[in-house]
Amino acid sequence: MIPVEEALEIVLREAPVLPPEEVPLDEALGRILAEEVRSDVDMPPFDRAAMDGYAVRAADVAEAPVALEVVGEVPAGQWPGVEVGPGQAVRIMTGAPVPGGATAVQPVEKTRALDEFRVTILEPVAAGAHIAPRGCEVRAGDVVLERGRALGPAAVAVLAATGHSRVRVGRRPKVAVLVTGDEIVGAEATPGPGQIRNSNGPAVCAQARLAGADVRSLGTAPDQQDAIVGALREGLGADVLVVCGGVSAGDYDLVEPALEELGFSFRFTAVAIKPGAPLVFGRRGDTLVFGLPGNPVSAQVTFDLFVRAALLRMQGRGGAARARVGVELLGPVKNRSGRKAHVPARARWERGRLVARPLRSMGSGDLVAHSRANVLVVIEAERHEARAGETAEALLLDGFLEEDDAPL
Ligand code: AMP
Ligand code: MG
Repeated sequence: MIPVEEALEIVLREAPVLPPEEVPLDEALGRILAEEVRSDVDMPPFDRAAMDGYAVRAADVAEAPVALEVVGEVPAGQWPGVEVGPGQAVRIMTGAPVPGGATAVQPVEKTRALDEFRVTILEPVAAGAHIAPRGCEVRAGDVVLERGRALGPAAVAVLAATGHSRVRVGRRPKVAVLVTGDEIVGAEATPGPGQIRNSNGPAVCAQARLAGADVRSLGTAPDQQDAIVGALREGLGADVLVVCGGVSAGDYDLVEPALEELGFSFRFTAVAIKPGAPLVFGRRGDTLVFGLPGNPVSAQVTFDLFVRAALLRMQGRGGAARARVGVELLGPVKNRSGRKAHVPARARWERGRLVARPLRSMGSGDLVAHSRANVLVVIEAERHEARAGETAEALLLDGFLEEDDAPL
């Protein structure tokens, strides 16, 4: 068994960064940027009014209230045709270019129009107020998005604003998923004696999709080496093969010999992780393979820690690890395993701190308890327990981003 950190290092080292492809802006969401993006414009592109009001010379209104002559109007989208001379003002709308001569914009609430050609400015305004000077946010040529950035909605906005209607991103890894086990039946079936519904296949396919992969299911193979080899052959064109179940040391665990028969070589076959431990990682040419343990929570957690990291790295992401936070434990966590433990918990901001309640879980088969987790509390291999009140490390799961009202 190798430590979790070492296993992750090996995975990230072996995962090849795929060649980039160009996509239109409306397909960029969730992709990983394969190039540095620079702005082609100053932002704002001109001295921009930040309020509806009057462009004035601040010095003219130092003794306000004072009446000024209104010499024109600038709506957004028009270039000012006039300058603001001494004793003058120009009516201006939010987003419009500030005319030459003006040094501030006084919001309309602090003015009173006398007629079309005269306005009373009710209060003084500081020079520069309510004007965003040209280039104060970004200068043409500045880097606005770094290579390796995951493109969320805000980054998509930056691409659009800086003139990028197409963008180079990492290609989506092709992932093929095979589930193994004589006992496995589909979600539509009523399980017979000794049968179990296939939850890992759908879970792992969903996780791979969320990580940006192009996913294909290879179905379910029985616990026979020939059948597993046959099914895996269908997936050899993929960038990543994920096999669920059949990687423990039992008589019916035939995934490793099947992979060897296909010419894969292993980088590791066990990791000191709980849930997990049996966890196979290998490679044949540019195709990576992960053999995940069959227990549903083990499959999901090991996918999240290792396969997801590989998929993100292949798309050009740098670190590729889950974000971590410190949480105050609301209950104790035990770890008698001697492995690095990942315990499902619900975390929430409460009275000025982030607290987490470990979920009552029956273990690595308890996929319902796991589905309620929004963090995984991490307990180092050499620690036997963490007590209530302690601050522990926690990995954020996707559900963490949604606040809910259920009591902890
Ligand atoms: P294995 O790793 O094949 O020894 O399986 C360990 C446990 O996980 C057994 O209880 C299996 O029935 C269960 N299991 C294996 N594959 C799946 C699956 N696709 N969906 C749900 N449970 C599974
Ligand atoms: Mg099995």
